[in-house]
Amino acid sequence: MKPALFAYVAPETVGEALGELAGDDMARPLAGGQSLIPAMNFRIATPSKLVDLQRIGELRGVSVGDGVIRVGAMTRHRELERDAAAIRANPLIAEIMANVAHAVVRNRGTVGGSIAHADAAAELPCLLVAAGGSVTVAGAGGVRTIAAEDLFRFHMTTSLEPGELLTEVCIPELPAGTGHAFQEVARRHGDYALAGVCALVTMDGDTCTAARLAACGIAATAVRLADAEAALVGGVLDAPRLAAAAAAASRYVTASDDLQASAEYRRDLVAALVRRTVARAAERAGEAAR
Ligand SMILES: Cc1cc2nc3c(=O)[nH]c(=O)nc-3n(C[C@H](O)[C@H](O)[C@H](O)COP(=O)(O)OP(=O)(O)OC[C@H]3O[C@@H](n4cnc5c(N)ncnc54)[C@H](O)[C@@H]3O)c2cc1C
Repeated sequence: MKPALFAYVAPETVGEALGELAGDDMARPLAGGQSLIPAMNFRIATPSKLVDLQRIGELRGVSVGDGVIRVGAMTRHRELERDAAAIRANPLIAEIMANVAHAVVRNRGTVGGSIAHADAAAELPCLLVAAGGSVTVAGAGGVRTIAAEDLFRFHMTTSLEPGELLTEVCIPELPAGTGHAFQEVARRHGDYALAGVCALVTMDGDTCTAARLAACGIAATAVRLADAEAALVGGVLDAPRLAAAAAAASRYVTASDDLQASAEYRRDLVAALVRRTVARAAERAGEAAR
């Protein structure tokens, strides 16, 4: 299919892009086009105007400092995946990026595009929620920061207002003594996850002192598994504690049965993934301490 008629502009600054978006609720930013263009071809999306962000140099690049990895919205997935300083600061990024689509898609797709697209099964929103990250957003009213847990509202819906542009994604560095793991199950490698789990686990000897868990593919947004975290903290990560966390995590599944998987299967998946990722993250926390 072909897209409906649309206008196209390619501004060179964030200010110009905001000017192009202002006053037209049907105008849409175009980032890597890996999701928006297919949606236009199917006429699921019919924007009046595409505001192409490719020429805006200030939206690209990765920097690490003050405990935060700052990723410009137009940074390609592949650029983040290959950024040694970012991976050193938070190795969870490497594990996440390896699961985002295929290299060809990652060459074009952008970090900001993935976050703004807010697919509930996507990996980057899951990373942002697990790590307690945030985004910077620019609009007619100025610049604001939105915490990950306030950003994702529903399938492909964020708390960005019409006319706002996501400019930067901020991912905290991995705290000292913390191990990480991400695992997902997809029908084929590179597909969106049927379910995926990010685990960040901090250990003091054999005792878990902090945990942050998030899942994708199981609800209308990436979701923090707070009850599962609570089940882990304050004790040794033995089989009963892992089982309690897994059971708590499975209660966050709100996705209905679909063509890919039943809700019951997803509950089993998320429970298994919590057990595996928490065990792996704890092992890595132990390795880091030695
Ligand atoms: C075959 C295939 C497999 C894929 N598999 C996966 C997968 O396994 N996991 C995964 O996470 N993704 C997957 N994707 C999606 C891919 O990661 C996309 O790149 C991503 O979803 C959107 O990024 P983009 O830069 O292409 O954004 P675009 O398609 O250009 O835009 C997506 C949406 O975000 C909005 N937007 C973009 N940038 C901004 C901004 N700066 N501010 C405000 N709004 C903005 C656009 O207006 C649009 O609504 C897959 C895509 C394909 C084609």
